[in-house]
Amino acid sequence: METVKGEILSIGTELLMGELTDTNSAYIAARAPSLGIAIQRMSQVGDDLQLLAGAFAAALERADVVFSTGGLGPTQDDLTREAISSALGEEMQVDPDLLEDLKAWFRYRGADMPPRNTKQATLIPSATTIPNNQGTAPGWWVERQGKIVVAMPGPPGEMYNMWQNQVAPKLKGRVRGQVIITRNIKTTDLAEADVAERIAQFAESENPYLGIYAKHDGIHLRIIGRGSTEEEARALMEPVESGILEIMGPHVWGFDDDSPEGALAQVLTESGLTVATMESCTGGLMASTITDVPGSSAYFRGGIVSYSNEAKIANGVPAETIHDHGAISSQTAEAMAKAARHRLAADIGIGVTGVAGPSEQEGKAVGTVFIALTTEGIVKPVALRLPPRRTVVKYRSVTTALVELTRLVRGLTSG
Ligand code: AMP
Ligand code: MG
Repeated sequence: METVKGEILSIGTELLMGELTDTNSAYIAARAPSLGIAIQRMSQVGDDLQLLAGAFAAALERADVVFSTGGLGPTQDDLTREAISSALGEEMQVDPDLLEDLKAWFRYRGADMPPRNTKQATLIPSATTIPNNQGTAPGWWVERQGKIVVAMPGPPGEMYNMWQNQVAPKLKGRVRGQVIITRNIKTTDLAEADVAERIAQFAESENPYLGIYAKHDGIHLRIIGRGSTEEEARALMEPVESGILEIMGPHVWGFDDDSPEGALAQVLTESGLTVATMESCTGGLMASTITDVPGSSAYFRGGIVSYSNEAKIANGVPAETIHDHGAISSQTAEAMAKAARHRLAADIGIGVTGVAGPSEQEGKAVGTVFIALTTEGIVKPVALRLPPRRTVVKYRSVTTALVELTRLVRGLTSG
């Protein structure tokens, strides 16, 4: 099957100064293959007309589809339109309808359109606009001699919206290249070698291809399928996915872009159960992460950051437990989980205590973490020995606690 080649140009001098990380390219690169476009090159170019025109011309020599982000603003250093015009030798002209739309956009916000925004209403003969309902910069869809340029705005929110609502649907009907689809299955509590052994029967195939990756939130199984259409690729992948789910079922906590807090939100919302936290070494990160999800107030009762022994005791952890076993112990984690559950009247309590470092505590090494989850008649302890770096200890403890909690809730509701 023919390969449809794609390139990505990220535009902006901030990118070259190390001030801005190019996340737009990663977004596009993660999505183009499923539309049948094989990305072959990504580059970052500063706000310089000559450099930009050269970059577009060169990309159009090599690729069938060129994506750009950035440089569509109203200011003098936003030169993407000018660069495309120059690369194609076409002249920019103000489009009266676009200009009227733009003026209406400003009127709606109670302002007059500044004159410099006029250039956002320009087009060249080969270009049509891609509407932007999140900002003033419409994108350009340029088609010439069988090649396509898709120029999108730089602000990620505007770009993602334009991609999902305009660009991806339009490309879907246009491009006839090999489609590559991925499905990511996220598992926990088995070691990589153990997972590999269990799913060995699927590992030989070329299409779909199965990859195993160790990540901070567990082992990911990535199925990659190729076909002439999305449906064809998915049909090849389906038996592998259901086979893996049959074998790995209880260890799976999420799919694709699921985050631990997102997966947790789903199971808690479905179950109607509530949670409360008491955390020490994570310093509130667990409560913060849980509340990153809109609507978390439906299931999150609250959290206590008990960073000192006094705070633990004041919030219901028995002084003897800390005295007998230490603050860094599975017994204290359990007492914290129970105290959180009772104090905050939740169905499930979570306790986390550990050594974030840099120095050891109570003779326990940096990276030692105890987590406990509790609900009526159940205590689930988790002991971790994480790499001895402060941020790693904090983030991995939270990830593990949320993934384990998701599994606990699944177990409670399916049983
Ligand atoms: P621009 O349209 O070039 O003026 O970009 C506007 C803003 O979008 C920049 O200041 C950044 O905040 C953001 N942005 C631009 N390009 C990128 C990129 N490649 N990745 C992430 N953010 C970007
Ligand atoms: Mg810029």
